[in-house]
Amino acid sequence: MINEDSQKPEIYISSEEIQQAAVRCADAVNHFLEDKSGGVVLVCVLKGAIFFFSDVLKHLSQIKDCELDVCRVKSYENDSSTGRIEVLLDCKAAVEGKHVVLFEDIVDTGLTLDFLRAHFEKRGVASLMVCTLLDKPSRRKVSVDVEFAAITVPDKFLVGYGLDYNQKYRLLNDICVLTNSQ
Ligand code: 5GP
Repeated sequence: MINEDSQKPEIYISSEEIQQAAVRCADAVNHFLEDKSGGVVLVCVLKGAIFFFSDVLKHLSQIKDCELDVCRVKSYENDSSTGRIEVLLDCKAAVEGKHVVLFEDIVDTGLTLDFLRAHFEKRGVASLMVCTLLDKPSRRKVSVDVEFAAITVPDKFLVGYGLDYNQKYRLLNDICVLTNSQ
């Protein structure tokens, strides 16, 4: 558990690096959608991926026949994974037979993504591409496919650009680590 009173955020990934990552992600999504016919649903995994999602959307070229949606799952309390995935809000779009691109903030143990992949596959998607801004492979508990991971990070708890600690720090433009200021 982090002692919030003595923590201050220190930049770990700058907003410039994040914007470059968003462009790389959009290129990968554009490429993925190139040969796909039929509907596309772009899904933001709330709340953490909200900034990444909107920044990537600005650079997409295949915008005809694209539906936007959100879903929300919970697996974290404070700074640790509970290992139990709870769906707080399911994606409302009809995804059956559609090409779905899922946007995540970070893949850590992999449990959330493993759950979400199975969830969307069960709903009969034609194809699924997962894009994550951050990937912490050293923390994996389950092996899970990630089609695009923009930035690999070590085992540090990160905040900012949508990522929170107890709902704080989400609005920082950079991704930060909380360091002890005492
Ligand atoms: P996983 O199920 O892969 O362990 O965790 C996925 C979720 O845990 C992420 O979508 C995110 O909400 C949360 N999470 C994992 N690592 C971090 C981190 O370093 N910082 C923050 N703020 N959340 C994290």
